[in-house]
Amino acid sequence: LSLVVTSRACRVLSVIIGPMRVLIADDDRLSALMLEASLKASGYEVTVVSDGSEAWKILEPDDRPQIAILDWMMPIMDGLEVCRKVRRASGPYVYILLLTGNTDPDSVVTGMDAGADDYIRKPFHPAELKARLRSGKRIVDLEEKLRRQATHDALTRILNRGAIMERIAIEMERSYRENENLCIAMVDLDHFKDVNDTFGHSAGDTVLCETASRMSSVLRPYDSIGRYGGEEFIVVFPRCDVSAAAAIAERIRRSISIAPVGAGNERISVTASIGIAEARNSKDADAVIREADRALFRAKQAGRNRIEFSVQERLSGSA
Ligand code: GH3
Ligand code: MG
Ligand code: MG
Repeated sequence: LSLVVTSRACRVLSVIIGPMRVLIADDDRLSALMLEASLKASGYEVTVVSDGSEAWKILEPDDRPQIAILDWMMPIMDGLEVCRKVRRASGPYVYILLLTGNTDPDSVVTGMDAGADDYIRKPFHPAELKARLRSGKRIVDLEEKLRRQATHDALTRILNRGAIMERIAIEMERSYRENENLCIAMVDLDHFKDVNDTFGHSAGDTVLCETASRMSSVLRPYDSIGRYGGEEFIVVFPRCDVSAAAAIAERIRRSISIAPVGAGNERISVTASIGIAEARNSKDADAVIREADRALFRAKQAGRNRIEFSVQERLSGSA
């Protein structure tokens, strides 16, 4: 009995996992607690703070809530200032609903120019506020969908070339600053042209999806994988020396070769060659990728379905 794994990667939908997260920032504790209870009952995950600087601490990181309900008047930092800070920062979109007593046109203009998406007058009707949150959720969902489309490969659903290059740049900057090791692997499917020629382009697409899915499943949570080109992938291993990267690369290699990929009635055997390079005190992403590519070339030359290292190349070159 041969083990055949069919592709699921192609069918993964891009939706926000889990409940919508909402931040409530209001110095009126009673009003905030009542709103919290009401939103929790509607299935939202709610965080409550009582001033603007607390709100900013929660909205600054990338894993911020998708919706913020900010009271305009708060101590230390008011809702408007939080709006401005959120809009100046990068990261996922936060839909901001401003709570205000001032609904004269000038105040509305000021609030919305500061970056609020909507406002509601205090005291508000809970049903109206929830309707406004549902409208905000539509915007948040749309933004998430667009962001996914811009950063992920449409076929394999892993990061696209632009996004994995950005990740490499960020991780190299961080590893340089924190004086840590970082490795990059270049993975290229072997004789992939033959897969297309023998089984057709659509079967080739299925193989790409399935191999991307298998590779993703053997990575550590903080590793990243992206599609660099046609049947070429890049994996980033932060906080990782060459021997640790080699162990994960071996899991990648095995995950691809261990069982044929099912495409329609066909069972397609696939292997991959891998080149690994280590970034040592360098912020030059292109140089590390070139090194990994050279190692990959040597893996191909040495017979494919294997891993080669740029460090060894250097060592043997200087010996
Ligand atoms: P090697 O072992 O030396 O890497 O040989 P190879 O055949 O894998 O390499 P080559 O670069 O000659 O061929 C890559 C093939 O990948 C050619 C191209 O048609 C195919 N390819 C690139 N992108 C896609 C895609 O999105 N879908 C499919 N089905 N094929 C693709
Ligand atoms: Mg290839
Ligand atoms: Mg190639």
